[in-house]
This record gives sequence, structure tokens and C-alpha cells, in this order.
Amino acid sequence: NEEEDGLHFVLLPFMAQGHMIPMLDLAKLLSLRGASVSFITTPLNAARLRPSVDRAASVSPRPISLVELPFPSAAAGLPDACENVDELPSPDLGLPFIKSTKLLLGPSLHYLRHHHPPPSCVITDSFLPWAREIAREFGVPRLVFQGISCFSTLCIRNLREHGVLERAGSECERLVVPGIPHEVAIKKSQMPGTQFKDLRAEMREAEATADGVVVNSYEELEREYLNIFRATTGKKVWMVGPFSLANADEGDKIVRGKETSSEYQCMDWLERKEPKSVVYVSFGSIGRLSPPQTAELARALEGSGRDFIWVVKSWDGLPEEFKERPITERRMVIMGWAPQVAILSHRAVGGFVTHCGWNSTVEALCAGVPMVCWPLFAEQFFNERQVVDVLRVGVGVGVENPNGWAGEEAGELVKREAVEKALEEVMEGGAEGVGRRERARELGDMARMATEVGGSSFVNLTRLIDYVWKCESTKDVRES
Ligand code: UDP
Repeated sequence: NEEEDGLHFVLLPFMAQGHMIPMLDLAKLLSLRGASVSFITTPLNAARLRPSVDRAASVSPRPISLVELPFPSAAAGLPDACENVDELPSPDLGLPFIKSTKLLLGPSLHYLRHHHPPPSCVITDSFLPWAREIAREFGVPRLVFQGISCFSTLCIRNLREHGVLERAGSECERLVVPGIPHEVAIKKSQMPGTQFKDLRAEMREAEATADGVVVNSYEELEREYLNIFRATTGKKVWMVGPFSLANADEGDKIVRGKETSSEYQCMDWLERKEPKSVVYVSFGSIGRLSPPQTAELARALEGSGRDFIWVVKSWDGLPEEFKERPITERRMVIMGWAPQVAILSHRAVGGFVTHCGWNSTVEALCAGVPMVCWPLFAEQFFNERQVVDVLRVGVGVGVENPNGWAGEEAGELVKREAVEKALEEVMEGGAEGVGRRERARELGDMARMATEVGGSSFVNLTRLIDYVWKCESTKDVRES
């Protein structure tokens, strides 16, 4: 479509891996359709994303511009070169970090005023409410990038709007979500967003006044929740995911995210394994288990007798022999960062112990891999409910309280027996296990079909582009 050639999307991601990576995938999808994309970020993040952008350039009619704006860490009171949440020395710096992103507003405006073509649309992370100033200045639509599911968004929204949260007394009171088709309940302590109160209010205001929402999900996965979300918010919603499928071949999957020294080694290691025999264990880009919990999980993985790949952020709590020999025939311990999408997509992987971050969840679905759910914080307890009760492609290990990043102390340890039991159910599990794996495979097939030409997400992306194009033409009329 030649008409699309004129569009220029400005994407503003929040600087955390779980936000930047899917947004870059969205940028790839837009650029494949012939739009120009400016992806505004900082030098450290640009360096991490560059290999992925360079690979995409070879297949896209228009390369994505990575716009590098220096991030004034010092002015924000943050340590030097602290440009991504995963670099923060302490979770207590989370709020100052989020607030300090506002320092990028001036430089972003300056850049866009001096570059051609002018923006046609701004797509912004909900953590960056200040980005509405950019859309306002250029008189273009502003869309919110929603990196979590419709299901979780709706649960959080309904608990708040119906006053359920305020009425709840103790932290362990069970809150039943009103206004949705499945019975979903979580503990009050598992509800996200009790921190960062003033920021949340600003974010909600920016979301309420946005022109629409772009979601990393697909209609076949949660159509009924999408319908309720649309009906209750009156918002335009475009489900154009799973974004990770923008990475078609293994090389694209491997360079997605951040450099790792072990990437080819772990793919070779997987090559030697039987189909669906390996467990992949990861708690996302910032999740951490306490040292005692790490030790307990190590015992569970060893005790399960299964081969596993485990991505860790520190050696604390791990048995000495893991440190001395991170790679054996049975295990592969990866320190730091793993090529997750490539690993999950490998035929040898049969189960995923996950913190239920939404990206990880959707990536597992795309690969048809059932999950052992170990939520840590944020909306992950809702994602667990969606995976376990609604989609029925996972088993919970029984985490009670938030922990792992936001500074909360973990409650009771998840015991070795609970992990081994959940692993057994997911990897074997008799008839139920078969059903779970079958559903996971079907959801993966649906995800791929959704993103192929003519599929629901493909068509929704066309509609989004058409919408922006329409805004562009009415703007031209207004200006002439
Ligand atoms: N990821 C990865 N390698 C790692 C850890 C994470 O590639 O070692 C990617 C993962 O594939 C996903 C993102 O980082 O795309 C993490 O997002 P998610 O929403 O799952 O969790 P978060 O990190 O935001 O808690």
C-alpha cells in the first residue's frame, strides 16, 4: 500500500527490558508495512537493541531509526549510566527512575521538531504519561502501548472501579473480580499498583485521554475480555500481537534483547536433547529469588531428574557445584541473559518455570510450551490466574505474596516438593497433562495464524495504520 509510505510513527518505550523488547517488535511490524519509525531511547538501550534493528533492516522497506537521547542519570539522582531498570542497584530507585524519564521530554521534542517527516502518531508506554505533550504539539493521535493482557487490565480496573480493593480489610482477604465471565480471585496483597500512587493517577489520566490502546495479545486468546474492555472503556483497542512473532528466524530470536555469551552454546546443548524433555527456568529481566529460595529451587530441579536451563542473576544461594560447573549434560545455568524466544521455540523444551511476566507468558504460548507459574510482583498474579484457570495451560507453584523485585520480603518459601509436583504435572501429568500441552499447542497455532497475512492481528494492524492515515488526512485539511 503506497499510501502508507507517508506515515511516521514515534515510539516511546519505558526503559525496562520487558517494555523495550516488545515495543521494538511492534516497531518492526510497523516498518514492515512501510511506515517510518523513530524509536526514542538512550545510548545504553540503543546499543542493546542495535543488532536486532540491523537484522530487521535487511527485510524492511524502511529501517527503524534508533534515536539516542543522552539520559541525564546524574540530574535524576541516579548512578552513572543507569539507563534501564535492570541496572538499578536497588528497587527503591524504581520510582525516581520512572519519574526521571520525564527529562527526555525536552530532548524528544527538540529532536522531532528538527527532523523530517513530522510525526503522524505517537505510541507511548503507559509509564511515560508526559509523552502526551509530544502528541499535543504535533496534533497527532496518541496511542498507549499496553504490554499486558486485556484480562489482567480488566481485572485490575474492575477491582478498583467497583471499590472492591478499598473495601477489603486484611492483606490476605480474597478479592473476587466483578464483571468478568470467569471466577477470578486474588489476595489483596497480590494486587499491583499500591505503590507509586501519585504516578498511577497520572498514568490513568494519560490512558483515559489517549486515542486508543495497542495490545500485545491476540483476539483468539481473550476475545471475551477484549469485548468487555471495549464496552466498559469505550476505547479503540487494537490487538496486534504476539509481537515476538515479528522475529521470524532463529537469528532474529537470538539477538532480540541483550547480548549473551552463552547463546550459541545453549542452542547446541538443546540440540542434543529429546523433544519436550527440557525445563526452561527464568524469572524475567528483573525478578530475583532470595538466596534460600534459590537453594530450594536448585534442590527441586535436581530432584526432578529432568534436564534444565536456568537463567540466574546472581550465584547467591546456588550450590557450589552449579558455580563450578554451570554446564553439564543435565543442566545449563546461564548467568545474566538468555535468548529466551529461541530457547522456548526449540523442540527440546517441554515446560517453562516462569514468573508470568506477560511477555514471557505470550512467548511460551507462541511456542506451545505449558507453564509452571511462579509470579513475583506487578500484574503477574493475574497472569497466573489467566494461564492456570482461564487458558488452562499451566500449574501454579503456590506463591502467596509478592516478592522478587519491588523490595517486599518473600513470605514463606515455595518448597521443593511443591515445585517438583508442579513440574511433574506440567511435564507428565496424565490425561490432564496431555490436555494442557494440547491446548498450549493450539494457542500457539492460533497466535501464528493471527499474525499471518489475513489473520486477526494482521488485519488489526492494517486498521490501526488506516486510522492514523485518516487522522493524517483530516489534519492536512485542517491545516490548509
Ligand atoms: N528475556 C530474555 N532473556 C532473559 C530474560 C528475559 O530474552 O534472560 C526477555 C523475555 O523473552 C521477555 C522479556 O525479556 O521478552 C521479559 O519480559 P516479561 O514481561 O516476561 O518480564 P519482566 O522482565 O518485564 O518482568
